[in-house]
Order: sequence, then structure tokens, then C-alpha cells
Amino acid sequence: MFDLILLLSQYQLLELTAKHLSTIDLYHTALACSDLYEIILKSKNIFKRLSRVSLCDGSGLKARQSFSGLYNGCPYRFGRPSYEEEIEVRVFNAKCDEKGGLPCIKCGINVCEECRYVPRVRDDPGYMSTRRPHLRPDYSSVNIICYCNACDKNVEERTRGRLCECDQYTRWICLRCRYKEIEESVWYYKNFTKYGDYTEEDGMVLGDHQHDRAFFCPCGVRPPRMGNIRCLWCKRKHRTRMYTNWNGNVAKTLDFGTEDANYIPEFDNNPDIPQTPLTWGPPILLQS
Ligand SMILES: [Zn+2]
Ligand SMILES: [Zn+2]
Ligand SMILES: [Zn+2]
Ligand SMILES: [Zn+2]
Repeated sequence: MFDLILLLSQYQLLELTAKHLSTIDLYHTALACSDLYEIILKSKNIFKRLSRVSLCDGSGLKARQSFSGLYNGCPYRFGRPSYEEEIEVRVFNAKCDEKGGLPCIKCGINVCEECRYVPRVRDDPGYMSTRRPHLRPDYSSVNIICYCNACDKNVEERTRGRLCECDQYTRWICLRCRYKEIEESVWYYKNFTKYGDYTEEDGMVLGDHQHDRAFFCPCGVRPPRMGNIRCLWCKRKHRTRMYTNWNGNVAKTLDFGTEDANYIPEFDNNPDIPQTPLTWGPPILLQS
């Protein structure tokens, strides 16, 4: 152990070792004893630099192949766990490209193409296949956050006045960070938005399917009626105030005309992707 610590205390050797470990393995190595902790984890900058060269840990692809978590969305379609049926043969032959990872936009840990979170097949219209976080074909309110004037000013400084460009199909995010995003959205909508008797004069009210939903800042203060509408994923301002036009699924955007909520270039412009999703059947009762 002493020799190992002596070797790893030389940064070049430490970096060389990190190239053969995933970030999670590196983290566990650091927790093995206080000397290794000092070398690997004590400086956040060193750990960050090491995780830039470390391997993808393969957990994203494992989740896809075992239909776990987000990849177990439609268990009743075929009477067995299922998710990416259209490309199932490919999923089971896929290998984690451990050296080919790129940093996750949220945590910076390297994740490969097969392991990153991205929907790879089209769900039925009106369900999950939406390109933008807030632009929903069914006009429902999701992934939106609104702040009071004081909090919004801080967020505006952090996001430097930029507009949301989130595209669920092109952004690079690991599965763990995707879970955190969903948790944050559930937490915010549960605790800081309400259906009810809130009028627009009181503050921010936005349409949600056939209802109105009042929004509150996480600090508890009601955001102003014409305050900024922000993306819960990136916290930047939305391009739209209206998400969709109820009939046409088309939203007017602040800067580039209109956008069709159902249009997904990754699917619509790719002749190899089946244009008709596999049909959702009624629930199949499994024999016990
Ligand atoms: Zn991978
Ligand atoms: Zn991440
Ligand atoms: Zn606030
Ligand atoms: Zn965004």
C-alpha cells in the first residue's frame, strides 16, 4: 500500500492510473484510506481534472439492457419488460465505448454515446417524445420554473441573459443527472406550483393542459405576472411565453418564428428510424 501511495503521489502517474478507471472507481479508490484521499479527492480541482480523463463506467447501457429505471417505461406493451423494441437487437449488441466518453453537461463525468441518456425511439405522440423541455404537444406544463424578482436577478446573472437551447436529443447528459433533473422538477411542481383560485393579478399563472397553474419562487414569494419563464433544466429564459397553440401544436417563439412541438429532427429526418411507433396495447396481465 505504501508503494502505491508513493507512486500515486506523482501527478503524472496518478493521471495515467485515472485513464484506466471510471470516475466512480477513482472516487472509491480515494476513500480507501486517508493518504489516498489527500492525493485524489482533497483538491476538487485535481479530482475534476482526473475525471476528465477517466473512463465511462458503463452504467447507462447496463440500465438500458436490464430495462431498469427510465428504461422500464412501458412494461405492459409486450407482457415483459421493454423499452427500445425498435432497436432491441442493436441494444443487446452494443458495448460501452469506455474510452470514447464526453463530459456530461451537468456533472462533467465522462459518459459514452450508448450510456448517455437520450430517448432512442419515438414514443407515441403526446407522450414523451418532445424535443424541447417545455414545448409539449399536449399543452401540459412541465420543466418550467419561475422566480421572484430578487431571485430571478441572480439567476439571470448566472445564465448571462441567454435563452434556453435545450434539445433532449442532442444534449449530452448522464443517466444519474437525468434522474436528478426529474427529481428537481417533481419537487418544484409539488411544492411551488398550485392549481386553484390564483388570478393573474396576484402573480405568475401559466396554462397547464386545460387548467391554470400558479407558480411560486422556491423562496416562497410569488413571481410577477409578466416575469421570466425559465427552463428547469438549464435555468435560462424560455423562448416562448405560450408553449403551444392548442389546435396546431405550434408555438410562437420569441426569436425564431414558430416551432412544431411534434417535430424531432433526429427521428423525422432519419430514414432508418421507424416513423410509426410500435402501438401501445392494452395492459397484458402476466401469469403469476
Ligand atoms: Zn459507456
Ligand atoms: Zn452527469
Ligand atoms: Zn425568490
Ligand atoms: Zn433549457
